[in-house]
Amino acid sequence: MKKRHKLYNYRWQKIRKNYLQSNPLCVICKNDGFIVPATIVDHIIPHKGDEYLFYDESNYQSLCKHCHDSYKQRLEKTGRVVGCNESGLPIDPNHEWNQS
Ligand SMILES: [Zn+2]
Repeated sequence: MKKRHKLYNYRWQKIRKNYLQSNPLCVICKNDGFIVPATIVDHIIPHKGDEYLFYDESNYQSLCKHCHDSYKQRLEKTGRVVGCNESGLPIDPNHEWNQS
């Protein structure tokens, strides 16, 4: 069995549960007009083990499994994410609008 990352601990389990309770729908499906329950709390900016990014709630988004898999694949393939969030900002964290 593969050893789980040390950040995916009890604290994360609690955060994840709370986040899904307040954000129960997949954000990508919602943008497309579909109501789909989210099961995954995704890190918008890959945390790569960085604790600050990992625990930063503004870096979270609720996704269903399907979107999580295709979103990450698309991001890995193209390096860009298509679409925008409810504020009209691109969901691509690498988009120039999201650079501060
Ligand atoms: Zn979805």
